Amino acid sequence: MIRNNICLNAHPKGCELLVRRQIAYVKDSVSNRATQNGPKNVLVIGSSAGYGLAARIVAAWGYNANTIGVAFEKAATKKRPATPGWYCTKTFETDARNAGLKAYTIFGDAFSNKIREEVMQLIEQQLGTIDLVIYSLASGLRTDPATEETYRSVLKPIGQHYRSKTIDPIKKELSDVAIDPAAEAEIAATVKVMGGEDWKLWTAALLDNNLFAKGARNVAYSYIGPRLTFAVYRDGTIGRAKEHLEKSATDINTLMRACNGTAYVSINKAVVTRASAVIPVVPLYLAILFKVMKEKSLHEDVIQQMFRLFNERLYTREGAVALDAENRIRIDDWEMREDVQEAVQKIWDTVTQENVTQVSDLSGYTDNFLQIHGFGFAEIDYKQDVAL
Ligand code: NAD
Repeated sequence: MIRNNICLNAHPKGCELLVRRQIAYVKDSVSNRATQNGPKNVLVIGSSAGYGLAARIVAAWGYNANTIGVAFEKAATKKRPATPGWYCTKTFETDARNAGLKAYTIFGDAFSNKIREEVMQLIEQQLGTIDLVIYSLASGLRTDPATEETYRSVLKPIGQHYRSKTIDPIKKELSDVAIDPAAEAEIAATVKVMGGEDWKLWTAALLDNNLFAKGARNVAYSYIGPRLTFAVYRDGTIGRAKEHLEKSATDINTLMRACNGTAYVSINKAVVTRASAVIPVVPLYLAILFKVMKEKSLHEDVIQQMFRLFNERLYTREGAVALDAENRIRIDDWEMREDVQEAVQKIWDTVTQENVTQVSDLSGYTDNFLQIHGFGFAEIDYKQDVAL
């Protein structure tokens, strides 16, 4: 059941396969690891899907790390299957424990003080200290724990009306999308939800409770992307929030001195997740990007990105973390390569309803989208009944 690029159900067996394929990728890649000196006790905030789940899998199977995850997911009811992240988390936990690793997950609102406190207690009881935090939340709303006021983020341009091509990837229909500029209050609300305020609260709580190991790392994710998505992404409301997150890294880094630690923002590449599927324009950009990057043998999904982030940026043999002029980790380097972006732009300028399935990798996009909900796997017989 898919409405407006949101898939409303999930398949338990497919979610299990999704996680096991990611685990298998990491197991196969582990011999290429630059160092075994990776993280040992990891907290992933936003651990059940997309980049957070992949980072948790890399930490566990790449470096034998114990993990605590926090995610907003729902178990099955009599009428509905669980959310995909719930099934993915259950598979992760079972397989991690079978591999002799500690794996705990707290399901609930990561923006709330209650869940933060529960996580602090769990770390103290089970892991002692944390040497890596991955902050990977993507949410449409946040209740500020100080005021109890709820803010809703919007995906809109700022200061300009925006019109562009977009696609309904399921119906394979190309159309024009027109978005009005955001009001000031909408910009501020988006910064409240997706900016750096909550990351700072998590950092302060971990420091106050002495739960960071000496030299710990604290990493949050951001995105920049190409000029063609600027109006709706980097120069839009979500971009303002990401700028805020990136600026917060400076303050958070100062706080981290108390444990000789460091805060980083990693700019990751565009991938298909529940969060990115609902950003206007992005699905069409991704379908074209996949075509170009696959042809150049540069294609990566979440697990390949996260393995490269850990192996070639965070835990290198020399120990140094390479940063750009604005102190950010860049693992979007292949996406942003000039030849890649030139090829994407050329296709973007000429894509039509008639040629879209040839000039873009729309089926690759759609398969990926279905698979993150447990559907679209050839190995699974979807006609069979399955326990929820
Ligand atoms: P996703 O939708 O796949 O995962 C989001 C995670 O956040 C899930 O585990 C979900 O349960 C959790 N979450 C959401 N609200 C929560 C709440 N209130 N409490 C607890 N957990 C909550 O998203 P994603 O695309 O992997 O995004 C993760 C981060 O990566 C975001 O910061 C995003 O901006 C960034 N990023 C994404 C892309 C991309 O193309 N998808 C590219 C670069 C950076």
